[in-house]
Amino acid sequence: MKQLLILSGKGGTGKTTLASAFIRLAEVKAYADCDVDAPNLHLIMGQTTKPKRTNYYGMPKAEIDQNKCIECEQCIQNCRFKAIFADDGYKVDLFACEGCGVCEAICPVEAISLRPAIAGELMLYADNGKVFSTAQLKMGSGTSGRLVTEVKKQMKLAVPPGTDLAIIDGSPGIGCPVIASLSGVDMVLIVTEPSISGFSDMERIIKTAEIFRAKIAVCINKYDNNLANTRKIEEFCKTKKLPFTGKIPFDPEAVKAINNALTIVDFDCPAGLATREVFKNTMKLLFKESDGCSA
Ligand code: SF4
Ligand code: SF4
Repeated sequence: MKQLLILSGKGGTGKTTLASAFIRLAEVKAYADCDVDAPNLHLIMGQTTKPKRTNYYGMPKAEIDQNKCIECEQCIQNCRFKAIFADDGYKVDLFACEGCGVCEAICPVEAISLRPAIAGELMLYADNGKVFSTAQLKMGSGTSGRLVTEVKKQMKLAVPPGTDLAIIDGSPGIGCPVIASLSGVDMVLIVTEPSISGFSDMERIIKTAEIFRAKIAVCINKYDNNLANTRKIEEFCKTKKLPFTGKIPFDPEAVKAINNALTIVDFDCPAGLATREVFKNTMKLLFKESDGCSA
């Protein structure tokens, strides 16, 4: 099964809009939303049924029994995440604790124990022979990379036999969730926009994606907002020999579609037509065996 990951270096470029359109056009049987900080693919895809399965996700956190603690300081000295501090007794910073268990093992009086903690919810939808894996990180939780790995694993385990394509909506930026979403994918489609920050973020995400040796392609959304910057991005791709799969115009109809929980290819509009072209070029690249091709 080929895995196509859709990424953008920054938020608001239309990454999820494009991902939802691709899911519709490809009629994929497996897709995932790896933007666990702010998942919204289910809204555009009109997911109305309840998840087939919801799992609570999280790693344990250390807890100190003040009555047993003899204040030997060994836990503070050995916690490499600096999650234990002395403040009227010994306390654990739950945001910093990674649940490694070192303090529990080292405490001479068994004053520390690990307790389960919920960091997020992992949901699996299965309707009409399609599986959709997604998750929602709990506010303030710092384990988004691990949760993304779980989202992908859950999708792969539930995928129907004979499925040849999975589409994954990534998260913005170049942090842990993006790194986790890049692992094992066949191709990354980067959605950028013709602004100075769009260009700079595109360069950063390309550098990150190159480490994973997946095929990389670029497309531009709202290209007509700045034609000079659009040319600059196209030139950049040519110089770097990066396949360029097309450009989508700014289209008020696209905004209406999203507001009505529709994808931009659900009706005829300039952005929808251009997206079909980007989709066609991307699929050609994804299913082509040799690298370095140009759509
Ligand atoms: S290692 Fe145990 S006894 Fe020592 S300070 Fe930490 S909790 Fe207290
Ligand atoms: S479980 Fe690990 S990270 Fe958490 S407080 Fe103990 S030593 Fe530190």
